[in-house]
Amino acid sequence: MNPMILDGKATSKKIKDELKEKVSMLAQKGIVPTLAVVIVGDDPASHVYVRNKKRACEYIGIKSLSYELTSQASEDDVLSLVEELNSNPDVNGILVQLPLPSHISEEKVIMTIDPKKDVDGFHPISVGNLSIGNPGFVSCTPYGIIELLKRYDIPISGKKCVIVGRSNIVGKPIAMLLLREHGTVTLCHSRTADLKKECREADILIAAIGRPKMITDEYVKEGVVVVDVGINRLEDNSLCGDVDYEKVAPLASYITPVPGGVGPMTIAMLMTNVVESAEVK
Ligand code: NDP
Repeated sequence: MNPMILDGKATSKKIKDELKEKVSMLAQKGIVPTLAVVIVGDDPASHVYVRNKKRACEYIGIKSLSYELTSQASEDDVLSLVEELNSNPDVNGILVQLPLPSHISEEKVIMTIDPKKDVDGFHPISVGNLSIGNPGFVSCTPYGIIELLKRYDIPISGKKCVIVGRSNIVGKPIAMLLLREHGTVTLCHSRTADLKKECREADILIAAIGRPKMITDEYVKEGVVVVDVGINRLEDNSLCGDVDYEKVAPLASYITPVPGGVGPMTIAMLMTNVVESAEVK
């Protein structure tokens, strides 16, 4: 079987173009969606992520305000900056790039962000809203996965959805979202008794593990839809997912590549959250 590729790069471009239109309509009403990006320290990967996010803002017409603090910045410095951004009426979204240096509590920082500006969807209020089905910001990677499935008209209702990985930023929220779409959800993790058996039952299999090529053909049934969230760097510096693409793709009906699958969708959904925040203001 030749699987259909779930092309996150092309889909995210389409979403960004739609947002560009929305932003130009908002501009006619004098509204300029604005994202404040806070980065602390000099982690090279974080700087790359922030640069990509700013580039996406620029493409769409979202204004991005940049706050670069040195790794010597104190927790109070970061908390006061977040409070200042909370009370700035021009700012629609606040993004604090993680990880933060170890002397700064990520939890405290996330808790300080006004949930109305929590475009990363990490605040406990956002997480709570997601679990009880109230409106609120949804964290960008899980949101991107659902959007990708929807844009390819992949039915979720009544389907057996198996997720490997139960992190707060991917596994748990994607479970809530799939449930919201009426999927029958199984959430697996490192203590799952028979992982292969659970995975082989999946109509939709989401891998968010952080282990290169762990999901092989032994974990899937024919016709499965595979979403690979993993981003792993190999010794030769190339990137690969948590799914062994060569082995799994021949059995799948749809599959995401790595790179070019879930990754680009994450940024597109961050941009969506910022524009939505400006719209409801
Ligand atoms: P975490 O390390 O926070 O969570 C990994 C999860 O996988 C845990 O729940 C862990 O179980 C489970 N796990 C680990 N080993 C096994 C195993 N052998 N069998 C079954 N389950 C296992 O990772 P994240 O959720 O943050 O990220 C997962 C992957 O997704 C990473 O590669 C990351 O880089 C990528 N990622 C990609 C994003 C994107 O935009 N595309 C965004 C975010 C992450 P337990 O809880 O029991 O320890």
